[in-house]
Amino acid sequence: MQIIPLPAFRDNYIWLLRHGATATVVDPGDAAPVLRYLADEGLTLAAILITHHHSDHVGGVDALLAAHPVPVYGPAREDIASITRRVGGGDRVSVAGVEFQVIDVPGHTAGHVAYYAAPNLFCGDTLFAAGCGRIFDGTPAQLHASLERLAELPGDTQVYCTHEYTLSNLAFAAAVEPNNSAIAERMALCQTLRADERPTVPFRLDGERRSNPFLRTREEEVIRQAEAQAGHALNGPEAVFAALREWKNRF
Ligand SMILES: [Zn+2]
Repeated sequence: MQIIPLPAFRDNYIWLLRHGATATVVDPGDAAPVLRYLADEGLTLAAILITHHHSDHVGGVDALLAAHPVPVYGPAREDIASITRRVGGGDRVSVAGVEFQVIDVPGHTAGHVAYYAAPNLFCGDTLFAAGCGRIFDGTPAQLHASLERLAELPGDTQVYCTHEYTLSNLAFAAAVEPNNSAIAERMALCQTLRADERPTVPFRLDGERRSNPFLRTREEEVIRQAEAQAGHALNGPEAVFAALREWKNRF
């Protein structure tokens, strides 16, 4: 299986999973790049996977269905009219010979799901390279628990998030941990990739654990910096996470 990024809007990636003559797309916020790729490559669409309800993730579904009437899998706990197969944590989704495990990852939105077929994780707007999603209709506690859940996956997991936010996320990570060499090394690597207009996604989960402050809420320097920003002591990783997320919002 090949996994291809289809850039959309300003900084979204629609992920297209290519297997033989068929394709599955994840979060097609815009139909045009998907339809163009399918036509150019002579592929048939097999299914659509949706992680959450935001329009830059679902906006292209109806136009795709008009041309390719396929099953649409999406979160049972979100109101998305075009979903035909409603899924939640623990469910398994089998598409074109690939079996995905559905993981509940609320926080960015209240019903957000991720799809995992080892070693690949499609996590929408939950975990970003060196960052995480903003909190819209979920809570900081939910997003923290969801990130902890994803961080338990194997270190060689390839993470496919849906935005190219990496350089700005790394700038924030460097502000949180100025002495973390993994962040500095990753910044240099990602600057080179972006200078060549190449994606910084996917990325490995083990590298994330070394350089993403939102997965490092138990590290002393992260705690100290979050407390300095909050102006008071923080009681535990969840409070550190909430303070980091708040800081990032105004960074
Ligand atoms: Zn979103």
